[in-house]
Amino acid sequence: MKFDEIKSDEKKYIMNTYGRFNAALESGSGAHAVDADGKEYIDFTSGIGVNALGYCDKDWINAVTNQLNKLQHISNLYTSPVQVECAKLICSKTGFDKVFFSNSGAEANECAIKLSRKYSFDKYGEGRNEIISLKNSFHGRTVTTLAATGQDVFHNFFFPFTDGFVFAQANDIESVKALISDKTCAVMMELIQGEGGVMPLDKDFVLDVQKLCRENDLCLIIDEVQTGVGRTGSLYCFENYGVKPDILTSAKGLGGGLPFGACMCNEKLSGVLTPGTHATTYGGNPVVCAGSIEVLKRVSEPEFLKQVSEKGSYIRKKLADVDGVLQVRGMGMMIGVVLKKDNAKQVVEKCLENGLLVLTAKNLVRLLPPLNISYEDIDRGLDILAEAINS
Ligand SMILES: *Cc1c(COP(=O)(O)O)cnc(C)c1O
Repeated sequence: MKFDEIKSDEKKYIMNTYGRFNAALESGSGAHAVDADGKEYIDFTSGIGVNALGYCDKDWINAVTNQLNKLQHISNLYTSPVQVECAKLICSKTGFDKVFFSNSGAEANECAIKLSRKYSFDKYGEGRNEIISLKNSFHGRTVTTLAATGQDVFHNFFFPFTDGFVFAQANDIESVKALISDKTCAVMMELIQGEGGVMPLDKDFVLDVQKLCRENDLCLIIDEVQTGVGRTGSLYCFENYGVKPDILTSAKGLGGGLPFGACMCNEKLSGVLTPGTHATTYGGNPVVCAGSIEVLKRVSEPEFLKQVSEKGSYIRKKLADVDGVLQVRGMGMMIGVVLKKDNAKQVVEKCLENGLLVLTAKNLVRLLPPLNISYEDIDRGLDILAEAINS
């Protein structure tokens, strides 16, 4: 088996930071992945919500390769026409005023944190820099975004973490109120806690947080790294909640498979970051932007988004009828499946054996299929999943 050789070199040369499943994926097309030994899988993961258009979408490849043939990278000290086009598109589709491009979700959140702190510093001076985040949240793996993450398991080993984060209880507005002081500058949250177990926030809670932010001149930062780019059936999930964040972060699906992140802000904040206050070498790379333009144009089509909602409802309905399923959560095609037996890990392994890729989040099975997956592939995947759950 080619797999065993690759695996032994992996052990030898790559830092052991991932609890990986037993598959070495080599190629793919649409919602199908093929491993090094030629075995085929239906993919309900899209690389953790990254390959929004599936593997190797023809038009996305064309957009990326056309740009590669023109120019692969320029410094952010020069103007990039394709970066400007991407910025104009994302701002016009979302209603935000300006964007900063990064390479990942954590970096997009770093930008959001710096932006909210500098807004407050410019207006109120030193000391007003505390950010209220939520328990059970996830915001990234840098030392600062780990500090912003509301789970104790992440606050270990790497001391000292960045100061200035406090944690409220999701869906408990009193716990948010209790943390607001003259030191607070922002509230930061996911609308559906993804890594935390696909936990959607209550709409009333989110509206109340927005109200508190407006009353106290706090920046409302919404982390849509996982929920964004069509995943929940609208281009961004804040539309489902009827709120308008001051700062929105995006990544994962945004590049369609290339590393990309974005931090968007409204007009109030658009002059806060000035030359010298924030930068990145790769962020807004022309090749990545060319691919992202293709993703954003396609995914923002109302008909495309409608199909994401419909497929999501279809999947949730079918899963709710499976014997071993206790509850199905989520929105659009961001789906969490709570099992009656607490055996998500074994179910995922069983699925892999039988040719289906799925994820876990906490103790549930998590599905993030490519947004343009066919009903045929959905049905084939769900059959494998149902069998694994009931076995
Ligand atoms: C994945 C994720 C991140 C981190 O993104 P990276 O690209 O891995 O840095 C941050 N926030 C949320 C909500 C995520 O799901």
